[in-house]
Amino acid sequence: MNDNIMEKIVALCKRRGFIYPGSEIYGGLTGTWDYGPLGALLKKNIKEEWWKSMVQLRENVVGVDAAIMMNPTVWDKSGHLAAFTDPLVECKVCHQRFRADRKSEIEEHEKTHKEKTEWTSPQKFNLLVKAFLGIIEGQQAQIYLRGEITQGAFVNFENVVSSTRVKIPFGIAQIGKAFRNEITPGNFIFRSREFEQMELEFFVRPIEAEGNKWFEYWKNERMNWYQALGIKKENLRLRKHEDKERAHYAKFAEDIEYNAPFGWSEFEGIHHRGDFDLSAHNLSYVDEEKGKFIPWVIETSGGIDRSLLFFLLDAYSEENGRTFLKLHPKLAPYKVAVFPLLANKENLVSEARKIYEDLRQDMMVAWDDRGNIGKRYFAQDEAGTPFCITVDFQTLEDKAVTVRDRDSSKQERVAIDKLPEYLQGKLK
Ligand code: ATP
Repeated sequence: MNDNIMEKIVALCKRRGFIYPGSEIYGGLTGTWDYGPLGALLKKNIKEEWWKSMVQLRENVVGVDAAIMMNPTVWDKSGHLAAFTDPLVECKVCHQRFRADRKSEIEEHEKTHKEKTEWTSPQKFNLLVKAFLGIIEGQQAQIYLRGEITQGAFVNFENVVSSTRVKIPFGIAQIGKAFRNEITPGNFIFRSREFEQMELEFFVRPIEAEGNKWFEYWKNERMNWYQALGIKKENLRLRKHEDKERAHYAKFAEDIEYNAPFGWSEFEGIHHRGDFDLSAHNLSYVDEEKGKFIPWVIETSGGIDRSLLFFLLDAYSEENGRTFLKLHPKLAPYKVAVFPLLANKENLVSEARKIYEDLRQDMMVAWDDRGNIGKRYFAQDEAGTPFCITVDFQTLEDKAVTVRDRDSSKQERVAIDKLPEYLQGKLK
């Protein structure tokens, strides 16, 4: 793997406007990140592709968008108040706190002290972020910002069943923010305190064979989705959870992991939640033939931010002195960039503006008339823009433009009136 690739990605993200440290002008806020113009587009494209594949193209999955703030009883019943914890240890020398189960971080920390480091014994640390609602001082109700978006799908289970035509097996999909008071946020956006999840809760009959069948099905679907959007097969693997690491709600679980520069790392979990949640919330399903029962749930729970980081890492390429992001066209923030060869030639600019205005009706198009063409290519390569279109003097005569391909840097002439068709074919 490329040396220092994390440093390179972090710098590129800042330089090009993908991701900035949160609240940077005030010294930042640990574990938060802000998405800039390119990052916001990339994130939106990931979400749109997920929604298309999980909701739009499936008859048996519907989407919801539940509130972030929920009645605190939800977190009591779901087991999060008691069990959504990480083991915390404190260094007795400098009082810095770490997760007891992250051996490598603890070893790294020990190296920073000359003396032998002693640690407190592990304590359970709850990850839920507290907030206070209401206007009367002293009488404000304490709530929690959701630690996972999942519960929003469960508490609406009966609402969805009664207001739509779904029948088991069916799924409820959702995308949204989650918050965790992580002990050690780090590795850029990999572990933050505010992040976004994309989740499917898929309800099946409580029969062993059904649970296993759908678990396998969703595992494959999700692995295929990442590959279809360009992540290299060799950088993906599935890993079964061991008994001791399984979440409090899970019967069994497997993680989809990415071969990150900091080691194989989870970015999506496939969990067999059994009837843990519906039972906890006292919810059930009534089948015309089989009567009332509590369905089992197969969950696919992915992180938007983690997958965005891995899409970037996987796309990062250095070839022949060129740095470019080989992002799948569906994910690329801008699909095309349009340049007039010279910014001070009115006829070139007006021809290029016409193309720009026309194409942007259907896709995100960048405009650049600064510096020379080489610099513009350089900037668009780092932004991951698949195609650059240049209007030159010949265009004024032959009504054709130069189209340059990001990955091969090959150029070809394309007639202006054929551009939409040409690009549509290439951007699939
Ligand atoms: P980890 O063991 O890394 O803390 P987890 O097993 O607690 O993760 P889940 O509760 O299964 O994670 O959450 C589902 C997904 O949400 C994860 O696969 C990940 O993509 C995302 N996620 C969880 N915690 C964070 C975080 N702190 N920052 C960014 N994404 C996160």
